[in-house]
Amino acid sequence: MNHIHLCDTTIRDGEQAAGVVFTPDEKRYIVSLLAEAGIEQVEVGIPAMGEEEQKVIRSIVDMELPLELLTWNRAMMEDIDASRKTGVNWVHLSIPTSDILMQAKLKLDRKQIVTRIRRAVSYAQQYHLHVSIGFEDASRADTEYISRLIHVLYDDGIRRFRYADTVSVLHPFTAYERIAAIKKSCPTDIELEIHCHNDFGLATANTLSACAAGATWASTTILGLGERAGNAPLEEVVMAWRHLYHGRVDIETTYFPQLAQVVSQASGRLLSESKPIVGSMVYAHESGIHVDGLLKNRSSYQSFDPVEVGSEHRFVLGKHSGFSAIAYFLAQEGILIDRNQGNRLVECVRAIANKTKRTIDAVELKDLLRRMV
Ligand SMILES: [Zn+2]
Repeated sequence: MNHIHLCDTTIRDGEQAAGVVFTPDEKRYIVSLLAEAGIEQVEVGIPAMGEEEQKVIRSIVDMELPLELLTWNRAMMEDIDASRKTGVNWVHLSIPTSDILMQAKLKLDRKQIVTRIRRAVSYAQQYHLHVSIGFEDASRADTEYISRLIHVLYDDGIRRFRYADTVSVLHPFTAYERIAAIKKSCPTDIELEIHCHNDFGLATANTLSACAAGATWASTTILGLGERAGNAPLEEVVMAWRHLYHGRVDIETTYFPQLAQVVSQASGRLLSESKPIVGSMVYAHESGIHVDGLLKNRSSYQSFDPVEVGSEHRFVLGKHSGFSAIAYFLAQEGILIDRNQGNRLVECVRAIANKTKRTIDAVELKDLLRRMV
């Protein structure tokens, strides 16, 4: 499978999530953590929003982090001028590509769109900026038109193209087909980036499918924060690409819990306990059968070792706990029990859990044992 690269847009598309605002310090901190984790490129914001935004982006540029910084722009001279003020050397130029959006937003037809984007590209190139082209609403556009656009822009020297599922209408099969068709009809050295939204809960699946079809860049956000139902979560895409597709992605995944905490706090969005990869309960086991299996062989009930993402299996006691879990818990405290004691404790733990709808900790368990004697 491909080696995929990541362009993280947590502080651009992520901040577009309704009600989310990152302070300049929070943005700098998030980007510095992403740099430490080894992310190659970060989309840092929209300079056309004004001086405040430009100042923050400039301050991130001044940090001289070991990653590429890219700004989001409409295909307009004034947006490019705003980006130039920030000192970034990558600009992302976005252009509507579906008939509905090019008409509704810009009142332009397909031909006029080609002229508009080429003019913006040549303007950015005058200032020696690296350019990434964003096909907005590509998933509702004619795929042949997208391919033609790529050919024209390729001749203008552009190699990087972002296919955006702006309104979230792809599913894993269409994501694969579209990207495969573009790859087949375009020069082999183009770099295709996939940018998916999560309105149907398919952003991760669609991103992975597009990468399997030949996209070499994935646009992600931490925790999937983003417009509407969000984007493809960085942590899910990376882990699934490695473990399910056996592809390469160079990033230090032990940073995920810290990134998740920081972004959850800064965005004011709660981090669900069951969030894949980083939720606080996703490596907690209560079921008697699972705990027993894990104690005998760690591989019995895991798809990857949580140590890889800075976490570890932990056992909790509750309604579904059995003898093995209870004996293990007490053994950790240096207490050995026999079958009879264990079975009685299972009953007690179950009764408490049923009544209180919660887990039982080691202190409570020891107390139960003491009272039994
Ligand atoms: Zn987006």
